[in-house]
Amino acid sequence: MFEENVITFAKYRWFLASLAEQSVQSLPIKSLLTRPPQTGDLYLKHDVETRPKLAARMARIETELGHIATYYFQGDLLETANGKTIAREIAELGHEVAYHFDVLDANDGNWNAAQAEFDRYCAKFAEIDCRVQTICPHGNPTKARDGWKSNKDFFRAAETRAAYPAILDIVVDFPAIFPTGRYVSDAGRKLRLIEDIAGNDTSNTAAMGDGVPLSWEDLPARIGNTDGLVLSLHPHRFATSAVSLYLQKYGFKFLKSAYLAVRRIPFVSKLASRFYYLARRL
Ligand SMILES: [Zn+2]
Repeated sequence: MFEENVITFAKYRWFLASLAEQSVQSLPIKSLLTRPPQTGDLYLKHDVETRPKLAARMARIETELGHIATYYFQGDLLETANGKTIAREIAELGHEVAYHFDVLDANDGNWNAAQAEFDRYCAKFAEIDCRVQTICPHGNPTKARDGWKSNKDFFRAAETRAAYPAILDIVVDFPAIFPTGRYVSDAGRKLRLIEDIAGNDTSNTAAMGDGVPLSWEDLPARIGNTDGLVLSLHPHRFATSAVSLYLQKYGFKFLKSAYLAVRRIPFVSKLASRFYYLARRL
């Protein structure tokens, strides 16, 4: 009934513990601002979209096993007391807390509004003593766009770069930082080795289809063979047990296939685009 390479906290703990044999300890993304990656480096990054409690649980496991990770929080989570408290807790454990931005999609490609939102949320991070040094763009698989490709465009723009010269975008800057590096993601609720994390946003279909499956057991060898591996995981998708993962995963699969079946109907794609942000909770 259950697949072997499920994403559960137990499996993740097993994976992190197994890294001790190779003496691999993960580094925060901000360390790349002062030190280039070296062979065997591991960077754990997490996109916190919702359910920050699960991010805190993950952070405690990492701390216990001697790893430092980077937690990219959606800006609106810092507008809630709970999100703020948990972000602070995670930072106090020694992890990097940074910004998972959604500014171009959320503002329908309006660059001025996007930059205003970016500044507003950066200030929220500063308020909890987590000055934003690195960022990660959020992907929205059901967003319809006209005039911009995805949130990745924001830090591709020379004007944005000039406004924030010290900020590193782990996705857009990936090929420059890691010429032979690897980016592994839990997109689709399975580990996948992503081929082109910086440029796979030519369409929503291309972004969703990028990558080949990989098992947890394959990861340690991959880490040793590159000038750095970024492992990107979504804590809210982690199951506390294999049973809850099964329910979560197949519920999601059902919704996804239902959407794929009807998305060509104009009314449906318009509606999905309007409520695109709901998808981040899945
Ligand atoms: Zn995201």
